[in-house]
Amino acid sequence: MNVSTDHSCVPNICGTEDRLCLKIKQYRAPCARIKVKALPPELVLRRALRAIYHTGYRLNWKKAPGSPDICFVGKKVAIFVNGCFWHRCPKCDLPLPKTHVDYWSAKFERNTERDRCSEESLRAAGWTVITVWECEVKNNPKDVAEKISIVLNH
Ligand SMILES: [Zn+2]
Repeated sequence: MNVSTDHSCVPNICGTEDRLCLKIKQYRAPCARIKVKALPPELVLRRALRAIYHTGYRLNWKKAPGSPDICFVGKKVAIFVNGCFWHRCPKCDLPLPKTHVDYWSAKFERNTERDRCSEESLRAAGWTVITVWECEVKNNPKDVAEKISIVLNH
């Protein structure tokens, strides 16, 4: 997910672990009316992955199509952690905003189209692509990390 162009009001959650604390504090919901109090899902997942000794990943690795949120470059495993609202999670099936319907529909269509393109380009380049949803990570980060672990250890 290209935060800088697409989610311009959401700061990029990346950088060194030292900078992470600051980034967490800066994290705000994409829209003022949607309050986010929990940690960003990427961070929750990274913590769960580190807990089972999967470290050495790159964040938003620009050299891979679509700059996946988490990249295990050596194993060519790319992980996208999709926000349920922005990427239209099929499980949550969140309602569309009631105002500016055309704007939102077009925006969501672009997001899902971009997701599809990135995934196709990655697969074509020999990557294994894992897409996880914000709700899955929030509900059971350990489970998600373990599923990823199976792919990484394959
Ligand atoms: Zn969801």
